[in-house]
Amino acid sequence: MHSIQGKIIKGIAGFYYVYVQDEADTRGKIYECKAKGVFRKDNIKPLVGDDVLMDVLDEAEQLGNIAQILPRRNELIRPAVANIDQALVIFAIVKPEPNFNLLDRFLIMMEKQGLNSVICFNKQDIATKKEKQELRRAYESCGYRVLFASARKRQGLKELKCLLEGKTTAMAGPSGVGKSSIINRLNPKANMEIGDISRKIERGKHTTRHSEIIALHRNTYIMDTPGFTSLQLFDMEKEELKDYYPEFEKYEEGCRFAGCVHINEPDCKVKEALEEGRISSVRYHNYKMLYEELREQKRY
Ligand code: GDP
Ligand code: ZN
Repeated sequence: MHSIQGKIIKGIAGFYYVYVQDEADTRGKIYECKAKGVFRKDNIKPLVGDDVLMDVLDEAEQLGNIAQILPRRNELIRPAVANIDQALVIFAIVKPEPNFNLLDRFLIMMEKQGLNSVICFNKQDIATKKEKQELRRAYESCGYRVLFASARKRQGLKELKCLLEGKTTAMAGPSGVGKSSIINRLNPKANMEIGDISRKIERGKHTTRHSEIIALHRNTYIMDTPGFTSLQLFDMEKEELKDYYPEFEKYEEGCRFAGCVHINEPDCKVKEALEEGRISSVRYHNYKMLYEELREQKRY
């Protein structure tokens, strides 16, 4: 029996799927593992994203046992995964039109967990200059990096590839925006790999979607985060929400009330900036909706 290092790319019903990079081929191998012993010894539960040492039990059948979880760089609560370096949110510019509320939700969730987000708007081949400009203006002004791409026309992919290189990136976005198309363009082999995992996992008879990591290149992983589309909001006081709208910050100081939440207060500089078009009305609208949602949430 020998021990090798790998990464948990999926966990289902007590089984962990451990990906081991191959020196020669980026596809590597996937082992189906239990984690006997680690719970007892270290009292931690393995997470998707964990780098682990695995004992190979059966090389031909690709079965193993996780012997040790290597130290984590970080640990997210939602989704519950480890060792994520950054977040990438993908929306289409059109078809479907972006759900900005969902976009903000994701940015807030990631920022709260200490991760930087990059926004990629896909399908630029069917969008107008004006549509792109508006998106860029709204999101770059709050400090996010905004990329445009077209999976169909193979545009913007180099920039995206550079951004992902050597990192593990949590990716999110609604269905139909082109996530699979983009991954497929970045590495057509990655999808074959997804097929492999699904086949192995079918035995696991589970249908609920879990977080899953896709190996794009050597040391480069992308994590699909399903479930983030749910309407459930994060644990947060409503007064805290404004801190996740970085574009408010430079106006905030001028508000009459300390702790102004920029909704109904008089002499609010944020609302002034909104009226003058210096703060995006889409962003402010989302802010108000999410604020209201947090207020409702607290009532129950
Ligand atoms: P996912 O659900 O986010 O994984 O989206 P898919 O990759 O399955 O793509 C959804 C639909 O959008 C498919 O019909 C794709 O052909 C189409 N699509 C993906 N990327 C582009 C693009 O860059 N431009 C255009 N016009 N269509 C695209
Ligand atoms: Zn204010």
